[in-house]
Amino acid sequence: MKYDYLIAGAGFAGITAARLIADVLNKRVLVVDLRNHVAGNAYDYTDDNGILVHKYGPHIFHTNDEKVFNFLSQFTGWYKYEHKVVSRYEGSDYPIPVNMVTLNKLYSLNLTNAEETKKYLDSVTSGIGNPKNSEDLMLARVGRELYGKFFERFTEKIWFEHPSKLAPNVCGRINVRFDDDCRYFTDKYQFMPDKGYTKMAEKMLTHKNIDVELETDFKAVNKNTYSKLVYTGPIDSFFDYIHGKLPYRSIEMIFENHKEEFYQNYAVVNFPGDEPYYRITEYKRITGGKSDSTTICKEFAARDGERFYPKRTIDALELFNKYKKDAEKLKGVFFAGMHPYFQYYDIGQVVAQCLRSIGKPA
Ligand SMILES: Cc1cc2nc3c(=O)[nH]c(=O)nc-3n(C[C@H](O)[C@H](O)[C@H](O)COP(=O)(O)OP(=O)(O)OC[C@H]3O[C@@H](n4cnc5c(N)ncnc54)[C@H](O)[C@@H]3O)c2cc1C
Repeated sequence: MKYDYLIAGAGFAGITAARLIADVLNKRVLVVDLRNHVAGNAYDYTDDNGILVHKYGPHIFHTNDEKVFNFLSQFTGWYKYEHKVVSRYEGSDYPIPVNMVTLNKLYSLNLTNAEETKKYLDSVTSGIGNPKNSEDLMLARVGRELYGKFFERFTEKIWFEHPSKLAPNVCGRINVRFDDDCRYFTDKYQFMPDKGYTKMAEKMLTHKNIDVELETDFKAVNKNTYSKLVYTGPIDSFFDYIHGKLPYRSIEMIFENHKEEFYQNYAVVNFPGDEPYYRITEYKRITGGKSDSTTICKEFAARDGERFYPKRTIDALELFNKYKKDAEKLKGVFFAGMHPYFQYYDIGQVVAQCLRSIGKPA
């Protein structure tokens, strides 16, 4: 055999697995990807205006896991970046996640500490103990009015599905804070790779035991050239859709360059109202480059196209379980990353998953 492992997918799951297998296990690895680049959905590039942009939507690195941070630090320098997101409601911008500042601004309140904020939210939430769907979950977290203003239409806009039809954990990532911390994440490590994700990914793959082939389907690789497989693509595609196709949400992204220093006051502005797009990202605010113009990206939800976010409806989870059972019967095939589990994981989580299962960096 020419290779010990074939890795299907050069996203952060595939490349972390490849690097660990090559380094820690000292095995020969071939990494293939359908796309013409590495770094998966975190792929970034410098546009014609000299601004580093993320092709598939903004990717902000954050983790609490020191092992993940130390592992990735072998392949990149970092710069400090703490992400902020606002929701634009009737022309004003409100911090997201909802926190003390959001409530004070929206309702002209004078909450001064976490205790008062919690008390206020307790008085408006419905206290549903065991939410059966995302609507129940949001009502329990923020109450009817905030849910209606910031989340109901927004969620429907991006998923083409009312929150009451979505499993609770779809909106589970939407947190609430009781203090005045307006950062989007609270993790210990919040940094961006100083030369971008693609450069970091390329460095991870630069190893004597690793070969990379792009624009290649793993199914086209001769089975006699490798012993074991690590698969990071969608689980239904692995099994040739025998039980049917799992639903995903796609995104249409429209990049625009504006001849002004900055376009908006925050890196990401959410639009929970009637605008056709649901958010606008301004890349200079995230990737830090200097340019006399600025590149923004408007994101529109799309039913078809690249498969980005698993759409975990209650029906879809039943379908997923059929594939899961099939996957458990396989030998010599390992699954890594978000798609085989039909579950959104961030970069820190997929790297942690590989570190746990393959071992510590050399
Ligand atoms: C819009 C969006 C925004 C996000 N924002 C953040 C963020 O802010 N912070 C964060 O940490 N994470 C974010 N994420 C999640 C992040 O993208 C993932 O955690 C990370 O990309 C997971 O890597 P992965 O390798 O599991 O999947 P992917 O990056 O999707 O890589 C899988 C790769 O497998 C390839 N593949 C599939 N089938 C085959 C096949 N048959 N043969 C060969 N190759 C195949 C695909 O082409 C793809 O490149 C975001 C995701 C999306 C979609």
